[in-house]
Amino acid sequence: MPIRYPVAVPDLRGNEERYVVDAIRSSWISSTGPYVERFEREFARMCQARHGVSVCNGTAALHLVMLGLGIGPGDEVIVPSLTFVATGNAVKYVGARPVFADVDPDTWCIDPRDLARCLSPRTRGIIAVHLYGHPADMDAINAFASAHGLWVIEDAAEAHAARYKGRVVGNLARAAVFSFYGNKVLTSGEGGIVTLDDDALAARLRQLRGQGMDPQRRYFFPITGHNFRLTNVASAIACAQIERLDEILAQRRRVVARYRERLSALPGVAAQPIAPWAEATPWLFSAIVDEDRFGCSRDALMAGLAEQGIDSRPFFVPLHRLPPFAPAPGEQAPALPHTEQLARRGISLPTYSMLTNDDVDVICDAIARRQH
Ligand SMILES: *Cc1c(COP(=O)(O)O)cnc(C)c1O
Repeated sequence: MPIRYPVAVPDLRGNEERYVVDAIRSSWISSTGPYVERFEREFARMCQARHGVSVCNGTAALHLVMLGLGIGPGDEVIVPSLTFVATGNAVKYVGARPVFADVDPDTWCIDPRDLARCLSPRTRGIIAVHLYGHPADMDAINAFASAHGLWVIEDAAEAHAARYKGRVVGNLARAAVFSFYGNKVLTSGEGGIVTLDDDALAARLRQLRGQGMDPQRRYFFPITGHNFRLTNVASAIACAQIERLDEILAQRRRVVARYRERLSALPGVAAQPIAPWAEATPWLFSAIVDEDRFGCSRDALMAGLAEQGIDSRPFFVPLHRLPPFAPAPGEQAPALPHTEQLARRGISLPTYSMLTNDDVDVICDAIARRQH
């Protein structure tokens, strides 16, 4: 069965094509050009942050922040185990060790109550992931961090424009990172950005992004940097996306609301919980399948949907279950019961602005037919 409903489709119906053509005709197709500056300015403003440092993808954004904060061998960084692999990889790239915390079953994000267990004399900071569009409990995380002299980074790759206690994500900690991959709420094909207020750290990130070049002396490299730059062509797409943020969010909210309404009638399927203080971004509509009550496992449901041409995604395999992050021989594997439970039972369904309510009904009917 060919795929009728992919999990994600980018919505490129605004000025995306026009701006890309403009970038090409201007001949500015590498990382110098007006769209790069405009993207950084406008996205930073959207996050109520002073600086936006664009990079070639969200993983590079995380890596760049680790470098900018001087994290390296011997350091530990607390991250949730339930996240995309990039969150843990960024810590490994700089030679540091990720220490995995459990998630809160009420938010699916890193549980502030599990941070103390993860603390050691080597702990330098915490990466709080706003998972599946839901903001992490930043006040509790920041309070723990400041009590122990740690920094906090937001991994907001899945949560553009989400709100925590009324405040937009992206400037709720030392720095925040976003991804603009094709399946994210806003996309530039591949792309990423770091948003932050700290002038000195922003300057250091810019230098590290551009091969470490001295900003006062061209082609002099006092430090070893990287080429993590974003192109003007990709930035052109990002600028067109930002123009349509409200429209894209409204359409995605409509889709998520329809799923919630239709699936609330199905026993054993529980939509993502939303904390009273949270305004989650409609990224991928996600739910938990309780095999006993639904009468069909998450994996059997996914296989049944695939037969109908409906694509879906299981939740992330917890990082501590992946070979590169497995405990060393003789080391105890962490007990992360909420992470394990969610990873086994979680499913994400097609979510994009072009899905009609009828499409969502087709998908929900297919889910209902798997019920026993
Ligand atoms: C997508 C994602 C990233 C990485 O972004 P890329 O642009 O794909 O490199 C990092 N963290 C999380 C939580 C993500 O979902």
